[in-house]
Amino acid sequence: MIVASPSNLYADLDVQAELDAPLAAQTWFGVGGRADLLIRPNTIDALATLVRRCRRDEVPLRVLGSGANLLVDDDGIDGVVVKLDAPFFRTVDFNAEGRLERMRVYGGASMEQLVHESARRGLRGLEAMSGIPASLGGAVRMNAGGKFGAIGDVVDAVALIGLDGELRVYTNDELRFAYRETNLPQGIVVWASLRMLPDDPIACRTRVKEIFAYKKSTQPMSANSAGCMFRNPMVAGARESAGKLIDLAGLKGARVGGAVVSPEHANFLAIDRVGGGRAEDVRALVEQIKERVLVHSGVQLQTEVVFWRRGSTEGLHV
Ligand SMILES: Cc1cc2nc3c(=O)[nH]c(=O)nc-3n(C[C@H](O)[C@H](O)[C@H](O)COP(=O)(O)OP(=O)(O)OC[C@H]3O[C@@H](n4cnc5c(N)ncnc54)[C@H](O)[C@@H]3O)c2cc1C
Repeated sequence: MIVASPSNLYADLDVQAELDAPLAAQTWFGVGGRADLLIRPNTIDALATLVRRCRRDEVPLRVLGSGANLLVDDDGIDGVVVKLDAPFFRTVDFNAEGRLERMRVYGGASMEQLVHESARRGLRGLEAMSGIPASLGGAVRMNAGGKFGAIGDVVDAVALIGLDGELRVYTNDELRFAYRETNLPQGIVVWASLRMLPDDPIACRTRVKEIFAYKKSTQPMSANSAGCMFRNPMVAGARESAGKLIDLAGLKGARVGGAVVSPEHANFLAIDRVGGGRAEDVRALVEQIKERVLVHSGVQLQTEVVFWRRGSTEGLHV
């Protein structure tokens, strides 16, 4: 569905808007169609008003971070896609609230830059995010992390624009972070306040490098993928590695069209250009894996990657 009169939504707002905007290059998979309307707000007011108008006009709205955990359908996506990459939304205020160990990071800031800049300044806390491609908003929404910790470990407060278009700050005592999820309500993460610890910059940088090297040695980081496709399921009361279950089902290297199960890490599905990959191939491969793992181990895998499809409510913000 193309938005009926899209300019009613944004013409008077401080935003940049693009109709029929290609999204493939904005995701790590590098596949998928176009957004009916891509909007880049310049201010919180513009974003909040846009959210309210989308709700009023029943126009679906989704937020795109760095596209590292996302599969956009080949037919593209309806309604409005918001991207917080205007300079304001990429800001990082070090020494926020006048305190060395606090920083306020806006939703579109790059996690990679943040990890390196914090270490350079001798601020410890984000090393576990080394090698995890993300915007701040996407990282908080997914509680991104792994073996060494997760972003939720250092989040002190989150400012979120809710479905009603109002900005509300959620404080530490209200927030819960668990394996790849949070209790944050639906909405758009505008900023988060992070709790850091002063430390020796060299020690911080060494830790960042060590964790990056570990990731690089265990994951196909340069592949066109979205990281782990499936959540690690609970089996007999403990988290089991989805990659191990896929491997045990004999699926390493399995392929549908241009989508392939990484021979390096079975929970990474990658698009290879040789097969002319499409989102549809990834979806078909996902279904095949779910069926085979269910038969082989009796475990029902659930996807961690968010799928955007026309008319679907998955990943919808408004
Ligand atoms: C090579 C590679 C390695 C990876 N390794 C890891 C890993 O070790 N650990 C891990 O946890 N993940 C990993 N991932 C997945 C990915 O890095 C994380 O899920 C990350 O948090 C995604 O952030 P993003 O900004 O790219 O979000 P996107 O992929 O753009 O979006 C993901 C979801 O977050 C929502 N979202 C984005 N921005 C906002 C916002 N401002 N407010 C509200 N919602 C928002 C989107 O609408 C969508 O629902 C990896 C991915 C790749 C490609």
